[in-house]
Amino acid sequence: MKKIALVGCTGSIGTQTADIVRRYPDRFSLCALAARRRSPALARLAEEFHPKQVYAADDGPMSEEFFSECDLAFIAASGFSGLSYTLKAIEAGKPVALANKESLVAGGQLVTEAAARRNAEIIPVDSEHSAIFQALGMKRTGAFSRIILTASGGPFRTFSAEQLARVTAADALRHPTWKMGKKVTVDSATLLNKGYEVIEAKWLYGVDFSRIKAVVHPESIVHSVVCFEDGAALAQLGYPDMRVPIQLALTYPERLPCERELDFESLGSLHFERLPAERFPCYGLALEAGRAGKTAPAVLNGAAEIAVEAFLGGRISFPQIADTIKDALSRIPMSEVRAYGDVAEADRRAREEAKRYVNGL
Ligand code: MG
Repeated sequence: MKKIALVGCTGSIGTQTADIVRRYPDRFSLCALAARRRSPALARLAEEFHPKQVYAADDGPMSEEFFSECDLAFIAASGFSGLSYTLKAIEAGKPVALANKESLVAGGQLVTEAAARRNAEIIPVDSEHSAIFQALGMKRTGAFSRIILTASGGPFRTFSAEQLARVTAADALRHPTWKMGKKVTVDSATLLNKGYEVIEAKWLYGVDFSRIKAVVHPESIVHSVVCFEDGAALAQLGYPDMRVPIQLALTYPERLPCERELDFESLGSLHFERLPAERFPCYGLALEAGRAGKTAPAVLNGAAEIAVEAFLGGRISFPQIADTIKDALSRIPMSEVRAYGDVAEADRRAREEAKRYVNGL
């Protein structure tokens, strides 16, 4: 029986994780549950799974014991707050199934150093990074030459700059292939998400940015590709369904039956094309911040969280998401990352600057 501490249990990834635990009750149990607030959804999960620990972020700081009993810490929380939980789980010496992108985007250096020091394993949950993990034989190292991340291109892949200026939050929330939480769905529409995933790949697989490339693949069947020096390329294929990478993170290194198998005869054609970075400036901003390193990616992320919230609330336009991020990156000086506090301070300043910018629009 694998005991799982699930952080972000009421969100999109969290509820799908609970579904898998429900499906294999003799294999998995939920020994600790965490969510943002004491909601009816959290109460229902607690009643069903009888965890030893139930934590809501609204209550105050998480107790030191939260991860003490688990065999696997599953970090499914979204946003910057996920980083502190990831670091806590690593410090507790637990393997971490990581679905929180911000942990590696804002805190990649801290997470990587802590995991090495505590010898804590990190199992990627994001579909692209799980695909790479699988193509490498469920490892995070290998003699590969390049990583190709696939991108659906989001709902606005073919839109002109004029059309992009007029899209609404409702339009952005209609993703063509994936069903996900709101923040990541908007980030997929701006391609910020793909920029985040390049940064995640850098930390997870220890590769330089020059060896990571993103290409558009509108069908979302090929989840990513690893290329080798001799020209061979290994990919992982599947329907766009997060249950597969989530379940693999739980069962790793084993596999258990999951969703339907690919029906190749009904798949039709698969397409690949250049990522249109010129129409989606968030992608380039993410890469710039990732290459700059230090606290720049934390500023990128903090500003993006405020900008997306403002866009979802109808307060700024779609192109102004990138403008808000760009402003914060240009105004907040980078500093070295020595401890969590450095990243938290960059995040705080980015949010403050982004709010000021949004209010001035
Ligand atoms: Mg992804």
